Amino acid sequence: MQPRDLSAHVEYVAGRGIEEVARELGREPDELIKLASNENAFGPSPKAVEAIRDRAASVHSYPKASHADLAERLAERWAVDPEQVWLANGGDGALDYLARAMLEPGDEVLVPAPGFAYYEMSARYHHGTVNEYQLSKDDEFAQTADTVLSAYDGERIVYLTSPHNPTGTVVAPAEIERIAAETDEETLVVVDEAYGEFADVDSAIELVEQRDDVAVLRTFSKAYGLAGLRLGYAVTPSEWADAYARINTPFAASEIACRAGLAALDDDAHVEKTVETVEWARSYIDDAVEAPTYDSQGNFVLIEVGDASGVAEALKHKGVIVRDCTSFGLDDCIRVTCGTKPETRRAVDALNEVLAAR
Ligand code: PMP
Repeated sequence: MQPRDLSAHVEYVAGRGIEEVARELGREPDELIKLASNENAFGPSPKAVEAIRDRAASVHSYPKASHADLAERLAERWAVDPEQVWLANGGDGALDYLARAMLEPGDEVLVPAPGFAYYEMSARYHHGTVNEYQLSKDDEFAQTADTVLSAYDGERIVYLTSPHNPTGTVVAPAEIERIAAETDEETLVVVDEAYGEFADVDSAIELVEQRDDVAVLRTFSKAYGLAGLRLGYAVTPSEWADAYARINTPFAASEIACRAGLAALDDDAHVEKTVETVEWARSYIDDAVEAPTYDSQGNFVLIEVGDASGVAEALKHKGVIVRDCTSFGLDDCIRVTCGTKPETRRAVDALNEVLAAR
């Protein structure tokens, strides 16, 4: 017996954890730094850790089905109704819910290339087919309505990423509005704001309130430092009131994740420290790396290094794990996550040494 034909699906190649790389190198994990997955260099909010410390003894109970308190808190923050907030198992889970809610077999979606692989994976899981719009190095990967609309051909979902992974560029709100206005009524524009806290641009959630064809994705994995707990959400059009109850995976967001999420929302100081350090690191990398960099509004910087795989491998041997962007179709770029100040300085020194030796 075999599963259904999965040949059209994309194989997810997970980045390796620090322990695994340490084992390969015969070194201790604390000798290495991992700047490969755009995680929060300062870890989780201490308030979030405190909020879940005593929860282990309750994990025999199912989580609350609705997590109304967290949905209400997020709804208040974004000035939407709680029913519009679709809590999920990470931003990835929220992408799955949107595909599940939207796609009939054979429906098409439009994704950015290069771009975040999970849009394509999720669409294929839900029997969709995938078309791409190309972002070009020639204009520094600018994401304009013209670029998207010239590739658009009636797809059911159009994905935008702002800030974009792996380039760090944002989509201006006016461009998003034009894309939503000029695509068909039955096309949903999904704006992925996983890195929104790091950007100097307004959230597209305002547009969700003004229109019925825009949804926005946010996550606790980046600025809030809760990637391991898997908590994200989509803010969806108000007309979809009962859709979430019909498509969500029961209990997908755990009680511990939701408790931590609520506490993290109360820790502005942690988010501020994180964002300030990211801003410092972006400009430090930009100034100090002896290779071309792209302007980023995320917590990472895309750097043109020539042979990306070779440079990433050499950096690994210096104890610095970065993302080789070959899997994004950019075989001359690496993506370096903003670390703490000492981590970022160490990564830049190591990179300059590797580049000088080539
Ligand atoms: N969108 C983008 C652009 C991302 O880079 C990521 C994570 N790497 C996600 C969504 C999903 O993150 P998570 O599932 O951890 O919330």
